[in-house]
Amino acid sequence: MLYFDNAATTPMRPCALEAMLPFLSENFYNPSSVYGSARKVRAAIDDARGAVASAIGANPDEIFFTSGGTESNNHALKGLPAKHIITTAAEHHAVLYVCKHLEKLGCEVTYLPTDNEGTIRADDLAAAIRPDTSLVSIISANNEVGTISPIAKFSEITNQAGIPLHTDAVQMVGNVPLDVKKLGVQMLSLSAHKFGGPKGVGALYVKKGTPLFPLILGGAQERNRRAGTENVAGIIGMSAALSEAIAEIPTELPRITALRDELIKKILQIPHTCLNGARENRLPGNVNISFRFIEGESLLLHLDMQNCCASTGSACSSGALEPSHVLMALGLSHELANGALRFSLGAQNTSDDIENLMNILTPAVEKLRNLSPLYDDFLKTSEHRR
Ligand SMILES: *Cc1c(COP(=O)(O)O)cnc(C)c1O
Repeated sequence: MLYFDNAATTPMRPCALEAMLPFLSENFYNPSSVYGSARKVRAAIDDARGAVASAIGANPDEIFFTSGGTESNNHALKGLPAKHIITTAAEHHAVLYVCKHLEKLGCEVTYLPTDNEGTIRADDLAAAIRPDTSLVSIISANNEVGTISPIAKFSEITNQAGIPLHTDAVQMVGNVPLDVKKLGVQMLSLSAHKFGGPKGVGALYVKKGTPLFPLILGGAQERNRRAGTENVAGIIGMSAALSEAIAEIPTELPRITALRDELIKKILQIPHTCLNGARENRLPGNVNISFRFIEGESLLLHLDMQNCCASTGSACSSGALEPSHVLMALGLSHELANGALRFSLGAQNTSDDIENLMNILTPAVEKLRNLSPLYDDFLKTSEHRR
């Protein structure tokens, strides 16, 4: 199995599984109960909160555990009375569709355009701010094309204007060093299963003093901001995975970046291919390439038949026929957007994987092109020109 879909989800780190197991068996107590065994579970959650906080430069009381990146984004966007929100055209659906929903409820939303690499211009952000702007939400690193946003530059603008800035940092946390104080954001979303933790758990960083209503009401858990008995094992697993991921960044970041660059170089040797997203400010594990004249979806199925996992655009839109909204925001033609494939590298990938992938990918592209009427037309016209 060649797994190149780490932006969709990562395999669990053994340390996370091991840390979780006692909380799925003997340490089953409700952390809100008062007896000693339950207080030990509460203490384990407190430790996890401390570990997650220190991984992103936050204080423990600024960390709120959630059910994942989607809930964290929903909370950040719906937790403030919103008149006007500024976001971007290249957000994850967990931000974009919340904004579409809020528009139906009467909120106005400005969708900032991106340049052809997926970057937002600071000038566009500054120009979009209005007296009634209540929130700005900009993705830290794009999950489809890997472009990293200059969030610290954006927060200078929003902090000057006194508007809270939220960032969806799900693709960054655990992969790239990150510090909420240096970023200057008021809210930040993260998700455990993108850095070797379990699915269904994440966190929202909320800077002290940021007003935010709860999204889920009920008990007093998470200091009244997120009701419901805690996903104890999930929280413990997330904290173990994140601590390990952060400790490994100094070696993994350069290693995965080198693998990424090797893969980009090799794929671009196939004729009629182009890299999508930024060359420089790019997630270490993200490779997104358009293959002209063929469908990314067909290529994906060919790879799957040979036990090789990749993705077209975002996993969430796989199966849908519309081209990815992110690739369209970057200004790609329908043809190039539909011909795009994302390979996302992670901790388990090696240089051998890259070689094995190329041995499958190169003939698959050739085979599909030989069947492609678009390619046939192209060959005829180029022959004609000669
Ligand atoms: C995966 C992802 C999400 C959703 O996180 P879940 O924990 O799966 O809900 C949100 N934003 C980005 C950028 C992601 O990559």
